[in-house]
Amino acid sequence: MTQVAEPEIARSTPSAETVHHWIGGRRVAGTSGRKGPVYDPATGQIAREVDLASVAEVDAAVAAAQAAFPGWRATSLSKRTEAMFRIRNLVEAHRRELAAHLTAEHGKVPSDALGEIARGIENLEFATSIPNLLKGGFSEQVSTGIDVYQIRQPLGVVAGITPFNFPAMVPMWMFANAIACGNTFILKPSEKDPSASIFMAELLKEAGVPDGVFNVVQGDKVAVDRILEHPDIAAVSFVGSTPIARYIYETGTRNGKRVQALGGAKNHMIVLPDADIDMAADAAVSAGYGSSGERCMAIATVVAVGSVADPLVEAIAARLPKVKVGPGTDPEAEMGPLVTKQHRDKVASYLDSAPAQGATVVADGREHPLYRESKGFFLGASLIDHVRPEMDCYRDEIFGPVLTVTRVATYEDALNLVNDNPYGNGTAIFTRDGGAARQYQFDVNVGMVGINVPIPVPVAYYSFGGWKASLFGDLHMYGPEGIQFYTRAKIVTSRWPDPGTSKVDLGFPRTR
Ligand code: NAD
Repeated sequence: MTQVAEPEIARSTPSAETVHHWIGGRRVAGTSGRKGPVYDPATGQIAREVDLASVAEVDAAVAAAQAAFPGWRATSLSKRTEAMFRIRNLVEAHRRELAAHLTAEHGKVPSDALGEIARGIENLEFATSIPNLLKGGFSEQVSTGIDVYQIRQPLGVVAGITPFNFPAMVPMWMFANAIACGNTFILKPSEKDPSASIFMAELLKEAGVPDGVFNVVQGDKVAVDRILEHPDIAAVSFVGSTPIARYIYETGTRNGKRVQALGGAKNHMIVLPDADIDMAADAAVSAGYGSSGERCMAIATVVAVGSVADPLVEAIAARLPKVKVGPGTDPEAEMGPLVTKQHRDKVASYLDSAPAQGATVVADGREHPLYRESKGFFLGASLIDHVRPEMDCYRDEIFGPVLTVTRVATYEDALNLVNDNPYGNGTAIFTRDGGAARQYQFDVNVGMVGINVPIPVPVAYYSFGGWKASLFGDLHMYGPEGIQFYTRAKIVTSRWPDPGTSKVDLGFPRTR
């Protein structure tokens, strides 16, 4: 893939302006009178506001998307391919400005923000193969003179509702395939970090995507509920927490929509006694504290099997003081603040409840000096050992830099722990024993498995999806299943008989 030179002049930077909607190819100021605060998590200050859409504003976006659909659907595959290439190149060229929006509103450090964007770009690259992906099937001569073929057609107006933790990548998981397939799209991003959505909308416009093909409505439950009930929206993709995912799936399907709703997670990392301790400790720290633990594929809990527990906990603990916590403006920072004060305090609360319930706090991030010195939502890397399944810090999705360790005696105990957990998003096993790893891959009830890989997010030409309470719906997101989700099959049976060869036959059509 061609590397595109970065522009010398920055396109736009985070400003104090209110974040508006994007409807019909332009910014549209909200008229609902409702706005929400958008924080800079590193300073704790309100940096700007975001419009919160009314029902009428969602309806306006749907009308724009519906008006654009016939023309976009009829646009040739070659032209849609060209558009996907241009979007891909523009996102790459402007990745640093996009990353600046992520750091400003989510708090993630620039290296992490650029990693998020790189994984999003993979989805744009996948969608450039749309002519190949939309190839149907053809069966010649299924009966005498009769051919049958299958084509896949777009659904119409589709919507994506996204979480705060990947404000660029998760929208790209959805809109890349959705629009490449010929649908028109409405994005409802998280109200906590909405600016990336408008930046991406501008890039799509610059790439020549016709007005109305990609729209953004900023908002909260009011906008989401209107999307779920709007008769002209054919399908909804959602990524977020499990209770909301369940609600989206139930409400959307009740209203006749195709829905894929990805929920929360509790990802276990099994470490067998033969594992390389340094490798396992490096992986646990990278995957547990990267992005401050605010990743759906973060390692949330280490399951230490047998004799590995003491040296492993010691090795993880030894690494924690070296994790550099700081704002995204500090070039040395590896772990930024949490997204809001409310979330920061909830994550920190597990460091109170865990010892009260019998666990041992090995590292306590509440004491991190930046939290006292700044008003930012910082929490240092924290570690809780001797965690048992009935404790709150094991049962809840903490979604922060608090890693827990559960000690078990055998592989079977570890497997049962993972399979008894209600979530099934990701898991990893660390071992030097190929047979044990293969057995785990065979046995575990989780959608994405890493073998000595702690964050097994599939590449864009596979699909992403958890099991159990981590996904509601039949199809995983992006990749080949994304193409399936955003299209429906039409099967054509055809013949071209010569005139004068037909007769009346009331029997059910046979092929022999
Ligand atoms: P969230 O569920 O609070 O919000 C997600 C979206 O739903 C947002 O756009 C929000 O505006 C909307 N929403 C929130 N409350 C709503 C309500 N009551 N009614 C209707 N809509 C509502 O999630 P979040 O805090 O933004 O993101 C973190 C969660 O997302 C974590 O649980 C994480 O595991 C999960 N997540 C999952 C995946 C995955 O692929 N499975 C990926 C990223 C994040």
